[in-house]
Amino acid sequence: ACLDRIEALNPVLNAFVALDADSALAQARAVDARRAAGEELGPLAGVPIGVKDNFCTTDFPTTCGSRMLRDWVPPYDATVVTRLREAGLVIVGKTNMDEFAMGSSTETSFFGPTRNPWDTDRIPGGSGGGSSAAVAALMVPLAVGSDTGGSIRQPGSVTGTIGVKPTYGGVSRYGLVAMASSLDQPGPVTRTAEDAALLQQIIGGYDPRDSASIDQSVPDLVAAAAATDLAGVRVGVVAEFRGDGYEQGVLDRFDEAIEVLRAAGAEIVEVSCPAFTYALPAYYLIQPAELSSNLARFDGMRYGLRVGDDGTASAEQVMNLTREEGFGREAKRRIIIGTYALSAGYYDAYYGSAQKVRSLIQQDFDRAFASVDVLVSPTTPTVAFRVGERTADPMSMYLADLCTIPSNMAGNASASFPAGLSEGLPVGLQVMAPPMADERLYRVGGVLE
Ligand code: GLN
Repeated sequence: ACLDRIEALNPVLNAFVALDADSALAQARAVDARRAAGEELGPLAGVPIGVKDNFCTTDFPTTCGSRMLRDWVPPYDATVVTRLREAGLVIVGKTNMDEFAMGSSTETSFFGPTRNPWDTDRIPGGSGGGSSAAVAALMVPLAVGSDTGGSIRQPGSVTGTIGVKPTYGGVSRYGLVAMASSLDQPGPVTRTAEDAALLQQIIGGYDPRDSASIDQSVPDLVAAAAATDLAGVRVGVVAEFRGDGYEQGVLDRFDEAIEVLRAAGAEIVEVSCPAFTYALPAYYLIQPAELSSNLARFDGMRYGLRVGDDGTASAEQVMNLTREEGFGREAKRRIIIGTYALSAGYYDAYYGSAQKVRSLIQQDFDRAFASVDVLVSPTTPTVAFRVGERTADPMSMYLADLCTIPSNMAGNASASFPAGLSEGLPVGLQVMAPPMADERLYRVGGVLE
């Protein structure tokens, strides 16, 4: 059924960039065989899943939405992928994304934009718009994404799906093509809180191959998602995340969601997190800085695209030509910003200041979580915007992540849950919890359903 659905809708939505129906059916049969042989498989065995195209897979190219890696088939699987295979999930294909996960609309992909199933003139969010559109359009019940500044949660919000960014270090980054290493975090994209909990329990947990991986067991997220009340839960509404720039329809759905939480027994208080206002500008120094360093490996020498190697060109000429043709405009813009912010003489003023802001954001969270269990805000200030509407104006594109970035900067757990529609388009509610308290996200999300 999933394959039929993908075949019917993918020509319009462009959610999958690689698909292998024969392999999917073979994987499904292999699950049957494992069961027949007496192997105890978990509840998601045999369930089809889409994987964002920045997770390494040995049976599909891993392009990161970039010409640079168009034909690259990795020699190893990401830990997330290995764990999906072990649990018997059926990897149907790879999902579209903004180039190297930079963007909020899935329009910078070398393979063209993904469309929002709710209105195909609109964007599905980004960078993981392919995963969220695929789940929203019922092409697959589950997908995985990666979230550096909002790329799981913001697409979740604008496609009416659930997107979870686990605690930094909660899900292994091994084999996730690095974008901004201190912020990147894989996580689930689903239609129900229980599905997301089941999926995080499979992909999450300690991995010695990720130096940031936290050596603790994953709490019982499925039990948390089954909660039906919020008695004794203190919910802090972030005062800074409303006002100018927030659509009225988004604020209305947000206020209604708060009433649902209150009716379920939660205590609602307003909390001020003044440093959150500086999260976006600080992110756009730290993220490009780390990105410029991570993308240095795409040099036309080691793997991926190589341009201009005619036997007479110097290595430097090949590198120049490869990077000129291999990277799109947004990647180049951020490499330039990042190398500038890291250059001698500017390092302290830009990168150093941004790191100080990061500490202030962390302190705001610490202060808030001393008196509340979770924080909430709209996931994104507006509903899905139109394809092409923000491509000429990077600043307006960056604003889509205004509310999601603080959680990446502090490394805490955060998720977006559907909170109804505004003029026929989905609105998301963001829930933020302290590091390693991911179960609180699921408890609130379970009640919202
Ligand atoms: N939209 C943000 C950016 O462009 C976040 C991307 C992400 O989370 N991967 O950097």
